[in-house]
Amino acid sequence: MTTAEATGIEAGRDFIRDIVQADLDSKKHAQIVTRFPPEPNGYLHIGHAKSIALNFGIAQEFAGKCHLRFDDTNPTKEEQEYIDSIQNDVKWLGFDWGQNLFYASDYFDKLYGWAEMLVKSGDAYVDDQTQDEIRLTRGTLTEPGRNSPFRDRSVDENLDLFRRMKAGEFANGARVLRAKIDMTSGNINLRDPVLYRILHAHHPRTGAAWSIYPSYDYAHGQSDAIEGITHSICTLEFEDHRPLYEWLLLKLPVPSKPRQYEFARLNLTYTLLSKRVLTELVRGGHVSSWDDPRMPTIAGFRRRGVPPAAIRDFVKRIGVAKANSVVDVNMLEFSIREVLNKTAQRRLAVLRPLKVVIENYPEGQSEELDAINHPDDPSAGTRKIVFSRELYIEQDDFMEIPPKKFFRLFPGNEVRLRYAYFIKCHDVVKNAAGEVIELRCTYDPATKGGNAPDGRKVKATMHWLSASHSMQAEIRIYNPLFLTPSPDAGNFAAEINPQSLEILTDARIEVAVAQANAPDAIVPDVMQFERQGYFARDPDSTPEKPVFNRTIGLRDTFAKEVTGKS
Ligand code: ATP
Ligand code: MG
Repeated sequence: MTTAEATGIEAGRDFIRDIVQADLDSKKHAQIVTRFPPEPNGYLHIGHAKSIALNFGIAQEFAGKCHLRFDDTNPTKEEQEYIDSIQNDVKWLGFDWGQNLFYASDYFDKLYGWAEMLVKSGDAYVDDQTQDEIRLTRGTLTEPGRNSPFRDRSVDENLDLFRRMKAGEFANGARVLRAKIDMTSGNINLRDPVLYRILHAHHPRTGAAWSIYPSYDYAHGQSDAIEGITHSICTLEFEDHRPLYEWLLLKLPVPSKPRQYEFARLNLTYTLLSKRVLTELVRGGHVSSWDDPRMPTIAGFRRRGVPPAAIRDFVKRIGVAKANSVVDVNMLEFSIREVLNKTAQRRLAVLRPLKVVIENYPEGQSEELDAINHPDDPSAGTRKIVFSRELYIEQDDFMEIPPKKFFRLFPGNEVRLRYAYFIKCHDVVKNAAGEVIELRCTYDPATKGGNAPDGRKVKATMHWLSASHSMQAEIRIYNPLFLTPSPDAGNFAAEINPQSLEILTDARIEVAVAQANAPDAIVPDVMQFERQGYFARDPDSTPEKPVFNRTIGLRDTFAKEVTGKS
């Protein structure tokens, strides 16, 4: 299978792909090896999808390999649940690491051995300063740092202390191993960065074997080198770490010399993509779970009904650049609509039902009508829907006192019911509170199929369902989780949209819709409910009470949705 067939996208061009092409042309590498290196401390989000599509996409396009490597060096934050969800999400997005699944923790022995080498060559030392002291003596962008009083320990003393750190003799935070580089460097990352810290914590894979864990900077580049990664692609915030990445590769007898390249991370309007924030949203109960359809997580998008092809289309459209920017969330919505418009079958559903009685339709009678499954795809065929005396229409489609230009149903007006007949409203029934609870209408039997033989026209076509041939369902409508285009990660709780979830409990759906989508469907079957949007069955569904998520509305009504006004 070619890449285009596998993912539905052709290879785009960007500066990283140009570098890869040049390295292959010059025979610098016979084969390209990339990696996607998530830390298993949360679920993947749409920003990760950009990195996944880039790393796996390059491997596919240039006949190389892409490794999935868990950067599992901080056992206090990492969990098996996250390891499992990450694998699931990468697969769901349509990418495959084949045999190339790795864990930084597999290299703990090797990394430790190399750290001892740095100690022996005088390139690393054990520092007894506290975390705060280390932070305070590191200096700032304008001021140099200050040497630790423990910086000039002898190699023997360093080696002894480092081995005892490993043996678990010291408490958390009592000491660290630091690279001995330059406390006056203009690059703060080179001011004796921490290589190992003491952490008495159970690790999901190595259990209680280790009392010290390597830092990201130390583990990452060496893991790349062990795996023979040719192009280590990461986001821009690591640009200033590259000199350290290269310093370590130079000092150690690593089996290969990967190069690090940086690209701009994805930022989206109305969205926060920091794992810390996403974790707090879940733990603080602001959303129901990591896969809450309001979350920008891959699992959230899947549950909401967003197809993986839409996410791939989106990340292809935004491209890969060297400068940070914020992408309008409407671009993501555009990709979702593009894909769903082509793939989603059409169905009828009434979200906020209003009862209609067709007075001249005989009681107990019903008839089947043909409905089209996809207007642009005849091969999708037709299905039967049932017409009867008691129907539901959308509350919004009726007004007792219509303003100008309201062409839908009002007393005295005639409209078309999709696939069925013309109906005319004669009377309204109200409850004690004065609310309209039922409409009394008549239909014209001569208009079957939706056209009048005398050529008379109506200005509106409305969706509807038969009361006794439809099923009650719960429908969940999602609005943006944040009220502001660039929510403040430091104070996000204040900017949460109180109307991000709207639950409609009395919606009506076609009976066949209720059975759609097995709860474990890899790609949920998303349907378009005509005039309403795209909807996917939620795993909370029961046979008695199906639940549907609105994936997205039909049109771009973003600004309205944010404020909850329509
Ligand atoms: P945090 O949000 O806590 O900084 P992270 O999102 O960087 O964490 P990692 O597990 O380290 O989490 O990310 C794995 C890979 O995904 C990294 O290579 C990282 O650069 C990339 N990545 C993370 N966020 C984005 C983003 N918004 N856009 C593009 N790539 C991203
Ligand atoms: Mg990170």
